[in-house]
Amino acid sequence: MAFDLPSLPYSRDALSPHISEETLNFHYGKHHQAYVTNLNKLIDGGPMADAGLEDIIKDAAGDPSKAGVFNNAAQVWNHTFYWHSMKPGGGGAPTGKIAELIDRDFGSYDAFKEAFSTAGATQFGSGWAWLVLESDGKLAVHKTPNAETPLTIEGATPLLTMDVWEHAYYLDFQNARPKYIETFLDELVNWDFANQNLADAG
Ligand code: MN
Repeated sequence: MAFDLPSLPYSRDALSPHISEETLNFHYGKHHQAYVTNLNKLIDGGPMADAGLEDIIKDAAGDPSKAGVFNNAAQVWNHTFYWHSMKPGGGGAPTGKIAELIDRDFGSYDAFKEAFSTAGATQFGSGWAWLVLESDGKLAVHKTPNAETPLTIEGATPLLTMDVWEHAYYLDFQNARPKYIETFLDELVNWDFANQNLADAG
């Protein structure tokens, strides 16, 4: 059972002018698609051919002999999660349960912004910044290199992510990763998605 490229939750020009249609044509249409295509080739005919995506990721995590499967499967999952972490007309301070937890665990939204922005800006090379609900019930910011994902942390629930691979921002922001991060938080971040993930986590 091969995986399909999941649908975007909005049209490819919907995040413009912050993230352009051209970026989504490459980032979603080429990069995300390539991870799906590569994963399908790697699992075809093998023991994980009919497994779910999260099970494939957890099975391959930390096993050097399965690095190719892990990298492609995790990148499929991370990108789908990233598209939902943004919305047209998003950005700004959160509302609802996630707002309460951010105030409780970071002290203020500004303090969260600082922590999340620093994680994204200091992830050396390619990777991701994350807002995660930890197994102790508290929020935390993580950064991960390459395809690494907090899905593999026992008891952790990812709530939001921001792709800081150059392919996410280079066409629109060139080398200015901090400007991309500021735009993600001020214009695009989808707090409804974080609240939904919190609710799903119980
Ligand atoms: Mn990407």
